[in-house]
Amino acid sequence: MITWLQGEVIDKKQWCADLYSIRIKLEVDLPFIAGQFVIVGLDYKGAKIHKPYSLINAPEDDFLEVHLNTVQNGKFSPLLTDVIKGDTVYISNKPSGLLTLEEVPDGVKNLWLCATGTGIGPFLSILHTDEPWQRFNNIIVCYSTKTANEMAYRDDFEALAKRYPEQFHFLPFITREQTPDAIHSRLTTFLASGDLEKQLGLSLKPDSNHVMLCGNSSMLDDATQILEQKGLRRHSRQHPGNIAIEKYF
Ligand SMILES: Cc1cc2nc3c(=O)[nH]c(=O)nc-3n(C[C@H](O)[C@H](O)[C@H](O)COP(=O)(O)OP(=O)(O)OC[C@H]3O[C@@H](n4cnc5c(N)ncnc54)[C@H](O)[C@@H]3O)c2cc1C
Repeated sequence: MITWLQGEVIDKKQWCADLYSIRIKLEVDLPFIAGQFVIVGLDYKGAKIHKPYSLINAPEDDFLEVHLNTVQNGKFSPLLTDVIKGDTVYISNKPSGLLTLEEVPDGVKNLWLCATGTGIGPFLSILHTDEPWQRFNNIIVCYSTKTANEMAYRDDFEALAKRYPEQFHFLPFITREQTPDAIHSRLTTFLASGDLEKQLGLSLKPDSNHVMLCGNSSMLDDATQILEQKGLRRHSRQHPGNIAIEKYF
């Protein structure tokens, strides 16, 4: 049984066709850990329908933000991306998810954050807190989209790269277009070939690296397989490892 908090849409940004960010003001504060997700609900034909979405804002912000694409013929996302300022949305009162820095074991030196599309959301939230900058020597974001205009929040990452030039490494991957300022390859191809480590001068050794993966299952499955071949293993609370995953679909 979900307990709902009522919220109001206070802003909506369209990045390109079918790609949006929605900002919501809740009636009460909702504490959460950067990287977690909530269930978003809407009233529809006399009932509540809902789906999970990552929170992409920093926990101390006085609003919540979600980033999503409209899935053609999807049951929920076309309705959520149709909301306008002033509309009511509902948010579950218990944020959850393990794609958080609390799950990263002590001793990790390099944090790798790899996302396809809207899977970048939890990493934005994490990077807008102080903790990663205090804990890790290197933070690497590998962000893959099909086209350049789908690469939402790119300016945020460029700003972080300027602010932390030694510590932060931003690698944009664009698969269906060739652009001068992105890698024209699948992220997993670049990872499997060793080009990713070579380009950064970092080695994905299990003792000092933690990789978070978020997005579609094909990238997650392929990346996990490649990382396991390098000696990394899936993380769970019972069996600490170096690969943490959140599967969107
Ligand atoms: C923990 C968690 C967090 C999530 N966070 C986000 C988020 O921050 N942003 C976000 O956009 N989505 C997120 N999702 C996915 C989201 O919950 C919905 O599944 C998605 O918006 C589609 O819902 P729908 O009802 O419109 O489509 P459905 O009717 O459920 O699905 C239609 C089809 O679309 C496919 N599909 C599902 N999601 C996508 C997608 N994003 N892109 C392309 N195809 C898709 C499904 O495999 C299915 O075959 C998350 C999922 C989980 C489990």
